[in-house]
Amino acid sequence: MKEDIKTYTLAGLKEHFAGQSLPRFLAQQVFDWIYKKRAEDFEIMSNIARDTRVFLKENFYFSSLKLCKQEISRDRTEKFLFGLEDGAHIETVLIPDEARQTLCVSSQVGCKFSCTFCMSGTRGFKRNLKVSEIINQYLYVNDAMAPRTITNIVFMGIGEPLDNFSNVTDAIRVLMEPKGLHLGKRRITISTCGLAPEIAKLGELALGIKLSVSLHASTDAQRDQLMPVNKKYPLAELMNAIKYFARHEVYPVTFEYVLIKGFNTAKDDAVRLSKLLKSVPYKMNLIPYNLSSLKFAPPLNAEIAAFTQELKDQGVFFTLRKPRGQDIAAACGQLRADWSNKA
Ligand code: SF4
Repeated sequence: MKEDIKTYTLAGLKEHFAGQSLPRFLAQQVFDWIYKKRAEDFEIMSNIARDTRVFLKENFYFSSLKLCKQEISRDRTEKFLFGLEDGAHIETVLIPDEARQTLCVSSQVGCKFSCTFCMSGTRGFKRNLKVSEIINQYLYVNDAMAPRTITNIVFMGIGEPLDNFSNVTDAIRVLMEPKGLHLGKRRITISTCGLAPEIAKLGELALGIKLSVSLHASTDAQRDQLMPVNKKYPLAELMNAIKYFARHEVYPVTFEYVLIKGFNTAKDDAVRLSKLLKSVPYKMNLIPYNLSSLKFAPPLNAEIAAFTQELKDQGVFFTLRKPRGQDIAAACGQLRADWSNKA
């Protein structure tokens, strides 16, 4: 059976070719054609010997994504719904601004973690994405948006990236590969709901990428309500793993904190947050909750003002963010939900 050539890292392809008594530099040539010259046909790889091209054609193929739907929001956020080879669907979101073109990629079909505020969590888990299915999200959108190019990648779409650890980290290796796409490591961010052992493991790999953690609460009792993963890895264990990660990496860890009306915006929350974040280099993003159909409601403006003032008083640094792509439901999982309802 033919293998998908884009499931390989450069090191993996070198090893595979060596096992077939093929020269290691062949892997470099193939990477150059696929990721720098964007070839999707072995026939046109003109600096590779004819019989080697025949071997490649007989043993490998190029996977691709099928665009099923594309929407553009008033704030220019673009959402792509892609079909996979097995008929499953994933979504990818492009968030443009003046300085950056950020691509938010999915890492799984569905998600196991059932965060209360997330539509992806309500649809169950189907499977991990392959390395190629992650890379293809980047390739499709980057090709489509030319001459602009993607500058940043965040693993913040459908799925928990650290639950698909090996494929996500291999996809990152392909994205960063100097002989290929050569995306700067500081331009790649993994966002996690808080899988403590994998956060520590990621630190040990020292890939040089950034980590973002969905915190959203200042006590275990609160966080248990929002994120069932907290029952397995409560705040103390999570913060220990983050401190361990921070010892191996240079960039501050980003904490995401969704502001929910009457739930996590009290003075006591600000005080507890200042204690929690004390010993970690961090950035914090505050994001006003923007759905009111589920269990929680968006915060009032006065509530946001009082909470941010309290954070300042406690010496907590933060950036107040605006949700993007609201009119096209670009929060994770919602496009897939729309699609599934219509299919
Ligand atoms: S927020 Fe992330 S981890 Fe939580 S249910 Fe949604 S996709 Fe899964």
